[in-house]
Amino acid sequence: MALPAEEWRAVAARCWAALQPALRERLAAAPLRDAVRLGCGLLRPEAEEAAALRRLCRRARAGKEAAAARRYREEGNRRFGRRQYAAAARLYSQAASHERPGSPDVSVCFANRSAALFHLGHFEVCLEDIARAQGHGYPDRLLPKVLLRKAECLLCLGRLQDAAEALSAVENKIAVDQTMTSAAHQALLKKISQLKNKVHEKENCPEPTLETHGAVQRELEIWEENDSISGASSSLSLNFDLERGRHLVASQDILPGQNLLKEEAFVSVLCPGESLLLPDSNETVWDTQVTNADLYCHRCLKQLLASVPCSGCSYAKYCSQNCADLAWEQYHRTECSLGALLLTLGVFCHVALRTVLRAGFAEVRRLVEQSHDDDKDLHNPEARCKHLSEAPDTRAGIPGKAEPLIPGCNDSGQYQSSYQAVFNLLPHTEKHSPEHKFLCLLSVVAICKKLQEVGLEAAVLNQESSEEWSKPETCENRSDELSPGLKIMAEAMLRHVLQLQCNAQAITVMQELGSGDGAVVNKRPVRLATAFFPVLSLLNHSCSPNTSVSFSGTAATVRASQPIPRGQEIFHCYGPHRCRMMVTERQQLLRQYFFECRCQACLEERESDVKSVVSLRNSFCCPSCRASMQGEDTLCCSNGACALSVSRESLSQCLWDLRQQIKQALKLLSDNKSDQAIKMLLKCQVDARNFLSPEHLLMGEMEDHLAQVYATLGKWQEAARHLQSSIRIVEMHHGPSSVEMGHELFKLAQILFNGFAVSEALSTIQRAEEILSVHCGPQSTQIQELKEMKTCLLELPRSILQRT
Ligand SMILES: [Zn+2]
Ligand SMILES: [Zn+2]
Ligand SMILES: [Zn+2]
Ligand SMILES: [Zn+2]
Repeated sequence: MALPAEEWRAVAARCWAALQPALRERLAAAPLRDAVRLGCGLLRPEAEEAAALRRLCRRARAGKEAAAARRYREEGNRRFGRRQYAAAARLYSQAASHERPGSPDVSVCFANRSAALFHLGHFEVCLEDIARAQGHGYPDRLLPKVLLRKAECLLCLGRLQDAAEALSAVENKIAVDQTMTSAAHQALLKKISQLKNKVHEKENCPEPTLETHGAVQRELEIWEENDSISGASSSLSLNFDLERGRHLVASQDILPGQNLLKEEAFVSVLCPGESLLLPDSNETVWDTQVTNADLYCHRCLKQLLASVPCSGCSYAKYCSQNCADLAWEQYHRTECSLGALLLTLGVFCHVALRTVLRAGFAEVRRLVEQSHDDDKDLHNPEARCKHLSEAPDTRAGIPGKAEPLIPGCNDSGQYQSSYQAVFNLLPHTEKHSPEHKFLCLLSVVAICKKLQEVGLEAAVLNQESSEEWSKPETCENRSDELSPGLKIMAEAMLRHVLQLQCNAQAITVMQELGSGDGAVVNKRPVRLATAFFPVLSLLNHSCSPNTSVSFSGTAATVRASQPIPRGQEIFHCYGPHRCRMMVTERQQLLRQYFFECRCQACLEERESDVKSVVSLRNSFCCPSCRASMQGEDTLCCSNGACALSVSRESLSQCLWDLRQQIKQALKLLSDNKSDQAIKMLLKCQVDARNFLSPEHLLMGEMEDHLAQVYATLGKWQEAARHLQSSIRIVEMHHGPSSVEMGHELFKLAQILFNGFAVSEALSTIQRAEEILSVHCGPQSTQIQELKEMKTCLLELPRSILQRT
């Protein structure tokens, strides 16, 4: 989803192939400014490519459609009837996003959702939704039922006075209502008197106030900010050299878990789900699958319970009206009507657009023009000599002023998260393939032409700025030409799309798998958004990094994952980690960043004959004697007495079959056929032992699935036993203090906690806490949850403690 939709990529590739060779050459070598000018001429409204793009955009569901609203609401009602309240709430949100704001229909969505939230025990949010329903003109005759729910919520929240007031409001309402049948009237009166009794009961016998576990002392972290790098710790310094470019180095000894960087994304864009792009079809199918857009706030990435839909489109959903208003102010008023195009062109193009919108036209123009001056300097032989004698990356200086030593720094030499820092990230213009640059070019030109077409140009160029920027150039006064202002925006956007290939930072979260109503939560990391973090971008890659990155909303935190001595460079892993991939795979993946990794792990694995951790641990064993197998295409048993040989292909086939069977077992689990799932998984284990080494990751995965099944059955001891086996394998692959190990121990702690294995639970909590606080910090939700478990266990009556 980072790149444009496949079909659009194909259109661009055909267009590229059909160009005159001379034009192709010019495009390949052109500076960004000239490329934009040439691109404008190619993507005319009447061109085949423009028509193809319009057709593709029709598939993206970004507008509000009454049919979709109806479909989602009906499905929501169905789920509600089956008591699947979480699913029902999400479907009502999807329905609401397709309704016109202020219509009775949207108010019904909010009212229905409030009912689902009530059943889920989210009373505060339920009250918000009731207020929302009323605010959007909920039909008067239906109001008593909703007001009763409000009274019940208030009662549950212990707000007795408010509950009593809400009840008398319902009574008054019913008293004057002539339309109600007497049966409905009676039912309501009965409910009211029940609730009144409850209010009285609570008033006479107030519940003891519970000690709030949320009050667990939050440790304050020591944090001293760096004078010259915003968001960085004072124990780092910014260095520059030809080989490594800008990079951060420890200026003093650093301890594991120490906070090194805290940065709010300059700009971030939620990655939508695949299902927002439906295949071409005459039939309208409304997918009820849940996507990121249904689960997280479009702006702040907070998890959504009761989303506030954008009033203009169906894809932007927010955690609150406040977030909706801020997003509208900052960028969404421009993006709202471009939804289908942005979904088609992918997240990178979207990030590029949002970046220039956040920066504002004046700042974009300043930096683009400055970069033109630098280019001119480069074509002037004298200036060029001067530049060559310096480091190649120090040319972003302002003429007449002292040149800042490191690009991206401001006049006083500080490096901050700013548009200037983003602009100075390397676009590697000359290293991208010409075809790729062409695709990016056509895409950003398409966005700018669309802005012009729908009349958003003035808004993008900040209205007040003088008219000269929005008038088409007189010499090329054609209707399909972009105005000079939009050309500047297009040039900056093209630069950003190219930068993203090396500098895009994924914001990941641990997301719950499955329905989430099991007692033990199984989580896996998912990519939530793509963002620019100009300070975080200062860190170079290593396949064996010395830091860990964690996210909270749109903020990133980098911590030392091991002791870092003074003078050592701070590294961050861009994805290919030595524990997950072999050196050749890693180098392949790292090619997108235009460098060859020379980290310690890569040097060791390439230069010595030592096989990587991955290959050793994910190997096959001899089907006959279980000794390890060696070789490339033909594998031979390492046991001389056996000497069995098998083709790698046939063992790979066995592995594929095994994975299919595991998938089937998981399907059985999701259909609540736990006993069958267990049988199948146990059989898979037996099969696997015949050809996989005991340390194979898949062996661990099977143990993990078994633990999950037993946990859903409440068989905590069996669950713990299997999880412990899985943990042994995770430890071998990722190391005893890895974040992966922390997550596994967290799961084990939950299982032991549920099974009242008090002393084991306490020691597991301790280990999980030690590891996770290094990687995620003492304030992360996981640490808070562990602390709550611990408090709870320590408060158990002695009688239970002694039994264990
Ligand atoms: Zn939000
Ligand atoms: Zn919108
Ligand atoms: Zn490496
Ligand atoms: Zn053998």
